[in-house]
Amino acid sequence: MTTTLTDSLERPLRDLRISLTDRCNFRCSYCMPAETFGKGYRFLPRKELLSFEEITRVVGLLQELGLQKVRLTGGEPLLRHDCSTLVGMLARPGLDLAMTSNGLLLPRHAEQLKRQGLQRVTVSLDSLRDEVFQRINDVGVPVSHVLEGIRAAEEAGLGPVKINMVVKRGLNEEDLLPLAEHCRETGRTLRFIEFMDVGNSNGWNRESVVPSAEILERLQKRWPLEAVGAAYRGEVARRWKYRDGAGEIGLISSVSQAFCGDCTRLRLSAEGVLYTCLFATRGSNLKTPLRAGADDGKLRELLQGLWSRRSDRYSERRGSAGQGQRIEMSYIGG
Ligand code: SF4
Repeated sequence: MTTTLTDSLERPLRDLRISLTDRCNFRCSYCMPAETFGKGYRFLPRKELLSFEEITRVVGLLQELGLQKVRLTGGEPLLRHDCSTLVGMLARPGLDLAMTSNGLLLPRHAEQLKRQGLQRVTVSLDSLRDEVFQRINDVGVPVSHVLEGIRAAEEAGLGPVKINMVVKRGLNEEDLLPLAEHCRETGRTLRFIEFMDVGNSNGWNRESVVPSAEILERLQKRWPLEAVGAAYRGEVARRWKYRDGAGEIGLISSVSQAFCGDCTRLRLSAEGVLYTCLFATRGSNLKTPLRAGADDGKLRELLQGLWSRRSDRYSERRGSAGQGQRIEMSYIGG
């Protein structure tokens, strides 16, 4: 039987973002800069990662507590060996199953992921210009390789693909109109993400943020848009549709228009630590009780306690909140 668990701000537990690995084949400057995540960086050893069985058990328990949507992330989730098998273990009626990827490995995996039950994929792409995109991903991957991944996902039936673009002033704000044009022509939904102070290593400052209002203004000058209401409580992006029918865009405005009041997201790291906020400084270890043989009752109690005590709303208090060492986004699953 499903109950709807709410936190101390009456926000229901609805979404779980699962990091399958803290490793990535990109070094995007706003998430995993090479200076920090370079040669000597100690990534999680395989034995420390939750097994597919453990992840599936946690999802089953959370579904009883109201979970409706799972998003598989990383690092880069497709670097987790055999992750389509996990997709097959998680796919079930009543559970919305999606993935966020950098797209590079999609040509190899898209069909298998679809066959196993993945419903949708969101791909990150921050520019259509190689010189800008390669400066961002810092591993020399050209735009064409990511576009190939998006096409493979669409051909496999994982579309329409949503594209996430992190906009940073002085880096790629000149790329947002060309990318919007590309998505209008291809029927892809483009979501603009304000540059965020996630983790501790991306050199964030407010001057580097291009607020959503400015992004919208730039778009409106070119193509009239009108607001679309939220499809459900907790929808991260504010949606706008082109008046000429050429699709939609989304604005994810954690800095300029915080949306903590409707945040229904829990995060599970690859090594089994639960976080109740993207900007968390500490989490709750689930792996130890899982591997110590805790029964479902014990685990359910732990999960209920964690969520019902939840009071996070970092983005609403940015700057005033205590500034402990935030968990890195590539570890927490974005
Ligand atoms: S800052 Fe934390 S509480 Fe606010 S929307 Fe983001 S994850 Fe949710």
